[in-house]
Amino acid sequence: MKNGKRHLVVVAGGAGFVGSHLCDALLADGAHVICIDNLLTGRKQNVRHLEREPRFDLIETDIIDPIPQRISRSGKGKIDFVYNLACAASPPHYQADPEHTMMTSVLGSRNLLRLSERTGARFLLASTSEVYGDPEAHPQRETYWGNVNSIGPRACYDEGKRAAEALTFDFARAGRADVRVARIFNTYGPRMAADDGRVVSNVVTQAVSGRDITVYGDGSQTRSFCYVDDLVRGLMALMRHDGPLPGPVNLGNPNEMTVSELVELVLEMTGSASAVVRRPLPVDDPRRRRPDITRAKELLGWAPSTDLRTGLKATIAWFAAEHERSKARSGV
Ligand code: NAD
Ligand code: UDP
Repeated sequence: MKNGKRHLVVVAGGAGFVGSHLCDALLADGAHVICIDNLLTGRKQNVRHLEREPRFDLIETDIIDPIPQRISRSGKGKIDFVYNLACAASPPHYQADPEHTMMTSVLGSRNLLRLSERTGARFLLASTSEVYGDPEAHPQRETYWGNVNSIGPRACYDEGKRAAEALTFDFARAGRADVRVARIFNTYGPRMAADDGRVVSNVVTQAVSGRDITVYGDGSQTRSFCYVDDLVRGLMALMRHDGPLPGPVNLGNPNEMTVSELVELVLEMTGSASAVVRRPLPVDDPRRRRPDITRAKELLGWAPSTDLRTGLKATIAWFAAEHERSKARSGV
């Protein structure tokens, strides 16, 4: 809401983990939200609580296909903002159909950029720290060009996002759209899919269900985990920032830790007796990752405020409730 005007906002990927939290925050801010999603990795359940919300529409469509005209001609006024979060984000999911992943980033972003061009909406791409690949620079600043294996099994995602960034800045250079690019670092929280294969969802699900905890490699690789509410606040701040931007903006929590340290913390917080088992390190798995968030701090006044224990507590409670629900469904 700005000067009493209700924003009309498109959220592609709005039924996913981050997208559904973004929809909630935008609605709480008074916006009308059109969520578009093909439900590939997202779930209706993530937005079921919005079913009766008159300021929320869910349109099931694939962003690779032409964007349905009823979105730009909804009769609800001019679209103000287009957030593109649509893309499977966990390695097992984005590698399941690499061609579709690549096309989602390239053709899907092009379709949404063209929607923005036609409607005069501001566009935000949810890019990723994966554009830095297995980084030689540490921590990663936006000026680092990255170290990506362009032909490996992660390339459909990494190179897809890099191409989407290129296209986004081409639209900006040509004056065709006003754009923002967020480079998102590992984010966790309630509504991650239990089966999506990422480390936080895997480890917490394994701990609360008493199954073995899988550590890939020797567990010494590092990540920096950001709580979803902090990320959503950063995405909205970036989208609303009216001044000039020098390029993409890292959004993440600089609190870096090894995978083994994360596992120890989850075991301690859940009191789980799960055993830890080693599995092979996936190909091209980055050795370390930590964002430099100076740009976000200086330009947007943004920094994460949720410490890992607080974020994990909410996440563990959510996965524990999911586990009970699934036990009840299967009659165990
Ligand atoms: P997610 O898989 O939960 O959400 C992605 C959503 O996009 C899902 O609802 C899915 O159904 C939808 N989708 C996928 N392909 C689509 C297509 N072709 N057309 C329409 N909808 C499609 O993942 P997430 O963690 O919520 O990630 C959201 C965005 O943020 C993604 O673009 C991801 O690349 C980016 N990101 C996330 C993280 C993270 O740690 N969660 C880190 C870096 C970047
Ligand atoms: N990982 C792990 N056990 C798991 C899932 C992941 O040890 O059950 C490791 C993975 O190899 C990587 C890190 O945890 O080093 C983060 O993996 P995730 O898929 O969450 O994110 P990404 O690799 O995309 O940063």
